[in-house]
Amino acid sequence: ERQETISVQACIEYALRLFQGRLRDGHVTVEQHWPKETLWVTGDLVRLEQVLVNLISNALHAMQETLEPRLILSAALNEKQVTISIMDNGPGIGDQHLAQIFEPFFTTKAPGSGLGLGLSISSRIMDDLGGKLQAVNRDPTGACFIISLPFAPPIH
Ligand code: ADP
Ligand code: MG
Repeated sequence: ERQETISVQACIEYALRLFQGRLRDGHVTVEQHWPKETLWVTGDLVRLEQVLVNLISNALHAMQETLEPRLILSAALNEKQVTISIMDNGPGIGDQHLAQIFEPFFTTKAPGSGLGLGLSISSRIMDDLGGKLQAVNRDPTGACFIISLPFAPPIH
């Protein structure tokens, strides 16, 4: 397994770049909030990239019918933990589904358009990286996925 120390900001920007076309075509407003100081994390960061891609992809899917779709990405350092939030202003997660979304094969998508594996794999990846993945609904609408990871600056 790869082990590297990189900037969370760079990781998010890389993931966002993969969605450039879809964001533009869908007229999605993107907001980014993070500090100037580098938020360092360590691990197999291709896998963190995979989690970000899953979460952004879910957010864009959830906002397909949203009039003014808005994707909000933020990152911060809180008590030696780097937290990354991926928020949308879609319909949010049904209250009856909140407890199930991390289960393998749980999906509310039409047959053929979602396997229901993205969040279970993402949550497993976050565990492997020594972090976690949580979901909450936003007020008045939308979903918020929160990643947390240990802050790990490079050793000189
Ligand atoms: P899939 O995308 O294949 O359905 P996931 O594991 O990625 O599988 O997501 C599981 C389910 O969680 C989705 O089908 C949807 O019901 C819910 N979900 C995930 N992200 C969001 C979101 N941003 N807004 C609303 N619901 C979401
Ligand atoms: Mg998905």
